[in-house]
Amino acid sequence: MKEGATEEQVSHVVERIEEVGCTAHLSQGELLTVIGAIGDRDRVSSLGLEGAPGVDHLVPILKPYKLASAQFRKGQRTVIEVDGRRIGGEHFGLIAGPCTVEGREQTLEVARVVADAGAAMLRGGAYKPRTSPYSFQGLGVEGLRLLQEAKEETGLPIVTELMDVRDVADVIEVADVIQIGARNMQNYTLLAEVGRTGKPVLLKRGLSATLDELLMASEYVLKEGNTNVMLCERGIRTFETTYRFTLDLLAIPALRELSHLPIVIDPSHAAGRRDWVGPMSLAAAAAGADGIIVEVHNEPEEAICDGPQALPTELFADYAEQLRRVAEVAGKQVATV
Ligand code: PEP
Ligand code: MN
Repeated sequence: MKEGATEEQVSHVVERIEEVGCTAHLSQGELLTVIGAIGDRDRVSSLGLEGAPGVDHLVPILKPYKLASAQFRKGQRTVIEVDGRRIGGEHFGLIAGPCTVEGREQTLEVARVVADAGAAMLRGGAYKPRTSPYSFQGLGVEGLRLLQEAKEETGLPIVTELMDVRDVADVIEVADVIQIGARNMQNYTLLAEVGRTGKPVLLKRGLSATLDELLMASEYVLKEGNTNVMLCERGIRTFETTYRFTLDLLAIPALRELSHLPIVIDPSHAAGRRDWVGPMSLAAAAAGADGIIVEVHNEPEEAICDGPQALPTELFADYAEQLRRVAEVAGKQVATV
């Protein structure tokens, strides 16, 4: 309220707030009176209190996302379970595989190695969002078929990207988790569509998206009744050009405070270089990430896409073991089946 607002003006505002079924919380200082309106944000804003006598200004303090907010689940953490593998809460999961599905041998070989090393899920893109339209765009349906074969052989659930609502039926036949790429984080029709499939979703943070925008995007999926969303930090664009993107590890404690959803870190796309992937993965696990999604290739030098950041299969078991130890130190159980 304005300095010098009268008692009558204060009680008028309180009455209006109560009229719409909200609670007014009065805080009277020496000079100023602050009235907290607790309840539905839309109802309070529809009162047009900005113009009411004695009112100075309105500050919305409610988060614009509800279902994704930590308060919504009253401190309980969401755990995503796929074929007995859990990610979230106490459970840490490693998702590994090639950037893109290139062929049968490559896909099966990488799948076997990551399965043997205890990965929880296999990643691999059949539809690829490439910066250049002249770059390889993914094998499409043939890529999905190869992922299916890898799943049948290793038992690993599949994480694969959906870019276009027109491919949803093909993708959900194979995908156990639908990946929404960074470039599609704000494709709201796509988000609602994956929400309606009911499949778990790995939602990647947009290249220049704030955490609030990421959470609002997750709300589009949750709103459709799909509660299985993992938030993925994969590096954001900053002024720094030494590495591909800046891995924002503060997103881990911050998102943990703001939301109940599991937090997965992708060190590969941030680092852009395989020798930086290990340290960033360990740092993420130490900071309390619920999972890591990492790129692995059997012949990184020959990879069609993102070869320089792919861990070679030979080094993967050691990498997974180190990661497991750090995750355990951070208080997590590492998914084993
Ligand atoms: C990927 O996971 O291969 C990928 C393209 O990721 P992003 O959408 O984060 O760039
Ligand atoms: Mn990639």
